[in-house]
Amino acid sequence: MEKYWQKEIETASRDEIIAIQNERLPKTVKHVYDNVPHYRAKMDEIGVKPEDIKTIDDLKKLPFSYKQDLRDTYPYGMFAVPMKDVVRLHASSGTTGKQIVVGYTQHDLDVWDEICARQLYAVGADESDMVHVSYGYGLFTGGFGLHGGASKIGATIIPVSSGNTNRQVTILKDFRSTILCCTPSYAMFIGETLKQMGIDKSEICLKAGIFGAEPWTDEMRMQIEEMLGIKAYDVYGLTEVMGPGVCYGCSAQNGMHVNEDHFIIEVINPETGEVLPDGEQGEIVFTSLTKEAFPIIRYRTRDIGVVTRGTCECGRTFAKMSKPRGRTDDMLIIRGVNVFPSQIETVLIRCGYTANYLILVDRVNNLDTVEVKVEMTDEAFTDSMTELTKRERTLHEELKSLLGISAKVTLVPPRSIERSTGKAVRVIDKRKLI
Ligand code: ADP
Ligand code: ZN
Repeated sequence: MEKYWQKEIETASRDEIIAIQNERLPKTVKHVYDNVPHYRAKMDEIGVKPEDIKTIDDLKKLPFSYKQDLRDTYPYGMFAVPMKDVVRLHASSGTTGKQIVVGYTQHDLDVWDEICARQLYAVGADESDMVHVSYGYGLFTGGFGLHGGASKIGATIIPVSSGNTNRQVTILKDFRSTILCCTPSYAMFIGETLKQMGIDKSEICLKAGIFGAEPWTDEMRMQIEEMLGIKAYDVYGLTEVMGPGVCYGCSAQNGMHVNEDHFIIEVINPETGEVLPDGEQGEIVFTSLTKEAFPIIRYRTRDIGVVTRGTCECGRTFAKMSKPRGRTDDMLIIRGVNVFPSQIETVLIRCGYTANYLILVDRVNNLDTVEVKVEMTDEAFTDSMTELTKRERTLHEELKSLLGISAKVTLVPPRSIERSTGKAVRVIDKRKLI
């Protein structure tokens, strides 16, 4: 039976959700205008006053904000409350450049706990569960985010953090963890380690996993589900907006619900900034509605996704964001063909490989080249040159016919690609290193 942490709001009517947003948006805009010089200057520049923002229809009058704004005002320029009211700091993991720092008031942390509690309930967890948190604890938001949610629902928290994977697996088995929280690539690594240690999935008590913080495909989800004998759910978030839990996966396992009482989602055309209708793919933009310390207005995430509205089969009515395909900066342009690493992942898994791969991009004689290194599994291992060449050619053809890219495929031995305990590195673009 479907579990809700806060059924009333999670299944509210569209009118009720809009009413909440209409009430909260003007307050947030006034709060940033009064307290954050950056927002005030940007609004003054285009002549928009807080009074001009009466309902969510006025949202489009406000300027966008960008990661660069957070870098330019580093460290505390975007904070909207005095430091004495800030009770916690986190920082982005710095995947795409200089890190940024964000702050939370006690109320902000309470909201964060609440949305992560919604996530846990949505995957069927409750106070009787043992929540094993293998997201890194520290400035990264992953660990503390899910930790807070698990604490809110009264579950037993096992705050393992990431790393030391053998010990991780021993704890998983001995402490009888039931819910695993980590990145999907780490979940795979844990699954592999389990097997290496000779532990069968029937010997562990895990029933579900909450995996996010990096793009992963549905194919990879099924692989993880099989390896660990669980249901795997997606969770999305970003440091600038809050951390994990901004959007939460549910029993439908196709997309994630946006916590619309705390955040407004928009999808825009990344080139023109035009707001796109529901169902169209574009860049995801968030505006916070209740944040005190670090409110954020029309933040351009660079994540590419689609939003739909309606009642989900889980009964929730919050808008749903599709699994983001990746960030605009992850998109590879190979001889004019646009391709996301996640699309390559889909092809690899459909062809019987695992999500252990690495994409190497380079430029030789002014031409872009791609090499896809894919690991063979122990079961499918071969060192016969004829067989290897045959398999590489087949995969090359599949990538070409499905994605239109001509990639060199190299099959490599099991466990030869470095495993990640956090966000996996999927692409090495040598063109950017020159
Ligand atoms: P950094 O920007 O340094 O990586 P964050 O930890 O804040 O730091 O990362 C947030 C980003 O992680 C998102 O903008 C998105 O690109 C990615 N992300 C988070 N959750 C998911 C998910 N479930 N699916 C795909 N991408 C995700
Ligand atoms: Zn749902």
